[in-house]
Amino acid sequence: MGEQQVILSKADIPKRWYNVAADIKHPLDPPLHPATNQPVTLGDMERFFPANLLEQEMSTQKWFDIPEEILDILSLWRPTPLVRAERLERALDTPAQIWYKYEGVSPSGSHKTNTAVAQAWYNKQAGIRRLATETGAGQWGSALSFACHVLGLECQVYMVKCSYHQKPYRRSMMQLYGAQVVPSPSDLTETGRKILREDPDCPGSLGIAISEAIEDTVTHEATKYALGSVLNHVCLHQTVVGLEAREQFRRAGLKPDVLIGCAGGGSNFAGFVFPFVSEKLAGDAKYRVIAVEPAACPTLTCGEFRYDYGDVAGMTPLMKMHTLGHDFIPPGIHAGGLRYHGMSPLVSALLHDGVIEARATLQRDTFDAAVMFARSEGLIPAPESAHAVRVAIDEALAAKEEGKPRVIGFCLSGHGLLDLSAYDAYFSGKIQNVEPVAAGV
Ligand SMILES: *Cc1c(COP(=O)(O)O)cnc(C)c1O
Repeated sequence: MGEQQVILSKADIPKRWYNVAADIKHPLDPPLHPATNQPVTLGDMERFFPANLLEQEMSTQKWFDIPEEILDILSLWRPTPLVRAERLERALDTPAQIWYKYEGVSPSGSHKTNTAVAQAWYNKQAGIRRLATETGAGQWGSALSFACHVLGLECQVYMVKCSYHQKPYRRSMMQLYGAQVVPSPSDLTETGRKILREDPDCPGSLGIAISEAIEDTVTHEATKYALGSVLNHVCLHQTVVGLEAREQFRRAGLKPDVLIGCAGGGSNFAGFVFPFVSEKLAGDAKYRVIAVEPAACPTLTCGEFRYDYGDVAGMTPLMKMHTLGHDFIPPGIHAGGLRYHGMSPLVSALLHDGVIEARATLQRDTFDAAVMFARSEGLIPAPESAHAVRVAIDEALAAKEEGKPRVIGFCLSGHGLLDLSAYDAYFSGKIQNVEPVAAGV
């Protein structure tokens, strides 16, 4: 007895990343230069990213070998378990099976470490000595801080000022791993100093922090910029998650009916589902694949599919993606990692082609699901991951309604042990359902 788990051995860590760009029906529209509206050149992008990562970014090659040293670092916590949530199934009294792929076992507590390690490694390979980045809630900053430390790079993190004060333990983690962390806006950049002169109490935003990290990159020697989601190479690095899960389902003798992931910039969703999408695109399987987002920031369900900037200031290249508009400021919902106006171009293209579906969930309903999951399975989901939990439960309830079994797989992208203040807010009734808003409103 006891809960079913499929545990792989270290030898089963995938040796290659899978690139869905090789299999999608229509090639991606190229990113455009923000000033000229012409396709960006490698030279334009090399100010920010090393050539080896840009090669992955623009490639339609199907597989990339994972370098030995990256595999070695990933093996600190990979392969991650695929667990059957039998107590949750019993609590729901459903004929469905619910399985979750758990990424919370990584050093920083989420899937983000998978790409952090890869990005730090490729930058080091290219002779870079220092990475600059921004972080909102702190998950990406802590993942990159860890990766930089193990690979001997310096790490400069611009952390949105209100989070810097609200999430002191994420800041402690980054400092423990040896990163320099400053509240943004900061006095380290021209952008930050200008904003502080006008508004010394500015709480900061992700858009400002991105602008600071980009300015830092171009004004420091041997420094590049690192992004924790959205981009093609980030989705690529995350496919270790889905490649493992696909093998784990195979060993359990199961084919999932539905696969679910939460989507902020789209990378954990991409990493979990793309290896399954590959079989679907080849006509070998009929999975339903669902991306889940907060109704308060409904990029896929209400956004438009068009070119837009990645940042508020309009400094990044324009990408063809689902977007709420680059000046969209989502309400302060607690799933900080899902408050992005845009979406991975690859995820956006698959939605546009009808290969995947999208659903939006309300905040209170999302926390209801997270609490039910925690009380039956023990693990406390990150508020972001709770969106996937909500839809997994809804799918299990739909199976009960129909009186038919189904196999549900979802990605539990991270733990919520540093997000307990969000659970406090939920229990004190401060988290309300925020209805979807239309694009451009
Ligand atoms: C950052 C984060 C997300 C959202 O980012 P994606 O790029 O969409 O994956 C989801 N879950 C957790 C735990 C996160 O930290």
